[in-house]
Amino acid sequence: MAKRVVKSDEEWRKLLTPEQYEVTRRKKTERAFTGAYWDHHEPGVYTCVACGAELFVSGSKYDSGCGWPSFTAPTAPASVSTQDDYSHFLHRVEVLCSRCDAHLGHVFEDGPGPTGLRYCINSAALKFEGRKPAARQAEGEASEDPQES
Ligand code: FE
Repeated sequence: MAKRVVKSDEEWRKLLTPEQYEVTRRKKTERAFTGAYWDHHEPGVYTCVACGAELFVSGSKYDSGCGWPSFTAPTAPASVSTQDDYSHFLHRVEVLCSRCDAHLGHVFEDGPGPTGLRYCINSAALKFEGRKPAARQAEGEASEDPQES
């Protein structure tokens, strides 16, 4: 796992747009069907908008109909962390970026197979990168996609 990214509130405020800041650092939820990725179907990787960590790949994205980008699993179990959230008189499980603690969204147990989970994530917490997951390289490792030479 990559090194943790820790910044002050002021630093995050400068780095992020107001909406990105409100979602990732203040745990706001964007309005359903308004984000950039709920209806986005291109192949590629979704990274943390705050720290760039790779969080989800398009292969695990599915159309849940809920108005937020939904995934059955993160790229790796360690890429996100979870914690109980008792706000709004509900018990939900919050999903955070494990590298920078950005609030991403929540995970629910009403997803399709194989995990049965729905990672319900704010578009504003994600940045889509249209690279093939297979072409991604381990951090700090130089590897070439043979197709590109
Ligand atoms: Fe992050």
